[in-house]
Amino acid sequence: MSFKETDLDIHKEIEELKSLIRDVPDFPKPGIVFKDITPLLHKPWAFQKVIDYIGNRYIGAGVEIVAGIESRGFLLAAALAYKIGAGLAIIRKPGKLPYKTVSASYTLEYGEDRIEIHEDAITRGTKVVLIDDVLATGGTMSAAIELVEKLGGNIVSVDFLLELTFLDGRKRILEKGYPVFSLIKF
Ligand code: AMP
Repeated sequence: MSFKETDLDIHKEIEELKSLIRDVPDFPKPGIVFKDITPLLHKPWAFQKVIDYIGNRYIGAGVEIVAGIESRGFLLAAALAYKIGAGLAIIRKPGKLPYKTVSASYTLEYGEDRIEIHEDAITRGTKVVLIDDVLATGGTMSAAIELVEKLGGNIVSVDFLLELTFLDGRKRILEKGYPVFSLIKF
């Protein structure tokens, strides 16, 4: 098979995966079009494809920890960690983690929010992949990057299932000096 045919197959599969993302207008508030990934998760082949596409990029890369962001990021992070044989670290909303934490704040449209990680989730020099479901403005992921940096982790890549390209969150992460990967682009 030529490279061209392979590229076409991959493009077709990504389009199929994209068709399984449901737009829910005005959720959780008026004016927001929520990208609902549950129809994709419901299909076994689709969930497997997503994890295979993302995970195959790390064969032989020596990734030690996959860090996922609450809550939909957990679904992807857990499966990815299992696939590539890495440990799993969870980044949570304030007050949810039982042990000692480090935290980072980020700004929302109105006000501020915070995320936390256990202080022993990542040790200095650990190779880390960060993952979440949606890249919108990049604010949440920027704070997650800050957490991993605070713990001295070595960020290999920052991954998303889907990216809202018109919000240009990618720029914010690239400016921090890390590669960004998204499987599906809107
Ligand atoms: P942001 O910090 O703006 O990049 O937003 C990313 C976080 O908010 C992710 O954890 C997403 O799960 C969630 N999010 C933001 N916008 C959407 C959207 N349109 N649909 C679904 N989730 C979203």
